[in-house]
Amino acid sequence: MSVHFRKLALIGIGLIGSSIALAARRQGLVEVISIATRRQETLDEARELGLGDIYTLDAAEAVRGADLVIICTPVGTYADVMATIAPALEPGAILSDVGSVKGHVVKTLAPLVPAGVSFIPGHPLAGTEHSGPSAGFAELFSGRWCVLTPGPEVDPAQTEKLATFWRAMGSQVESMDAGHHDMVLAITSHIPHLVAYNIVGTVADLEAATQSEVIKFSASGFRDFTRIAASDPVMWRDVFLTNREAVLEMLGRFLEDLSALQRSVRTGDGPALEALFTRTRAIRRSIISAGQETAAPDFGRTHEAPPAPEVPFVREHGGGDDA
Ligand code: NAP
Repeated sequence: MSVHFRKLALIGIGLIGSSIALAARRQGLVEVISIATRRQETLDEARELGLGDIYTLDAAEAVRGADLVIICTPVGTYADVMATIAPALEPGAILSDVGSVKGHVVKTLAPLVPAGVSFIPGHPLAGTEHSGPSAGFAELFSGRWCVLTPGPEVDPAQTEKLATFWRAMGSQVESMDAGHHDMVLAITSHIPHLVAYNIVGTVADLEAATQSEVIKFSASGFRDFTRIAASDPVMWRDVFLTNREAVLEMLGRFLEDLSALQRSVRTGDGPALEALFTRTRAIRRSIISAGQETAAPDFGRTHEAPPAPEVPFVREHGGGDDA
């Protein structure tokens, strides 16, 4: 099945918005792309990159006449964005988003959706630690999942139309309940980010001499944490503010397991440590066989040129964080 939209409005043109613009254009999925953002400099950058056809600081103007609207701003901005665009949304349009949290999004937006507009929240499980319009690339969604969380009131034909749009950009699509999404993402994405922020924060608090040695000798474990902990601070602040319950539930389990691990280390329980590490290795292998990660050594890093000393991590296209 092919899909075509007359006018795609992107509210927010950072990593995710610009990647949608590039992928949708490359696949010929839209006639006109209209872009709205908050700051003039971001709009100018989007224009220089040729990401769209219409550029405006007025989100209401961007959505007028659009048959597909995708909100691509941090989740904490949604209420303000919706207050601006709701009166300008056209009947028959699909309203979607890319936010990393879904329950909060449904609670915030659903009551404000005008009659005749199909509200289908979405979340592409694809990303990198980079932000802004120049961070986007058309292949970002290739081979990655996109989760849709339509409510029961949504016409399935509209959901299928949006799913076809994401498939055409390279994604695999699955629909699920918003609460279930938030629980799954809490453990697969949100807690890992929290752990990365914490461990890198611990290093940041070490005294200067030790800290410079950690950076100088940083081995792959810590380096990988620094890449995750370089993710956008505002976006991640909003994830933890809006998915609090699921994160706390999963964090409770995580801390219990960490205490058990602490005990195994303290008591020198080699068999317990080895049994856990054997189980976790099997999970890594099943992720690789599911096509969600590379089996290449060192996470598929290229080794032609040594990384610059002041940048302890390198960008990994397409293998980024499922934020
Ligand atoms: P980003 O690169 O930081 O871009 C954010 C965009 O939102 C910018 O265009 C920014 O505009 C705009 N914005 C920020 N605050 C705003 C406000 N108060 N009002 C209006 N616009 C505002 O972010 P991103 O990584 O693309 O993330 C966008 C969304 O995608 C988030 O909801 C995030 O949860 C979700 N997501 C991210 C990833 C990831 O790995 N990054 C993955 C999946 C989903 P200005 O530059 O003009 O201020």
